[in-house]
Amino acid sequence: MTVAKIPEKISPRPSLRRKIEDLSGQKIAACFQCEKCTNGCPVTFAMDVVPHRLMRMLQLGLLDEAIRSDTIWVCASCETCTTRCPNDIDIAHVMDALRQLSQREGIKVVQKNAPTFHAAFLASLRRHGRVHEPEMAVEYMLRSGGLSGLRKQAGTGMAMFKRGKIKLLPPRVRAGRQVKNIFKKVKR
Ligand code: SF4
Ligand code: SF4
Repeated sequence: MTVAKIPEKISPRPSLRRKIEDLSGQKIAACFQCEKCTNGCPVTFAMDVVPHRLMRMLQLGLLDEAIRSDTIWVCASCETCTTRCPNDIDIAHVMDALRQLSQREGIKVVQKNAPTFHAAFLASLRRHGRVHEPEMAVEYMLRSGGLSGLRKQAGTGMAMFKRGKIKLLPPRVRAGRQVKNIFKKVKR
């Protein structure tokens, strides 16, 4: 994971905040940085700007930095953040609006680890019928950064495990067999 560079000196640009508010229909100014979105997001390990920080960037009008972040392409649109937000901000929809804006502005996606992330995501989905986040995170980190990448994130993973945020065993999914069949059909 690389962390996006945020300029040292920032002059807030409310007009750019309003631009993304209009596009997404979400009241970004209402975010009070409680971090609930970030704490629930299953893919922060692969993001360069975690969701609550992205919201802060948008409040400050750092729209250009936001649409150039890896985060908007890593977001799996699972809506966990949206359901957790105490201010009813549909963060997943904001991500969607940022992706649209990025494409509209012709921003070239230079996220070299995106294919690795998607491969780890799909492999976990195929095995369990839904994503098992710890397994996917380990696989992604090993593929993208090798053992050193894994070591760098080990502390964060352990802290999350101690707080009960990570389940070591994969989920039991009733429709697991159907998901496997879908993968087989797609492969054929
Ligand atoms: S959960 Fe909502 S209010 Fe809290 S940081 Fe995220 S966007 Fe802001
Ligand atoms: S919708 Fe995107 S940002 Fe929100 S929790 Fe899911 S992956 Fe994370």
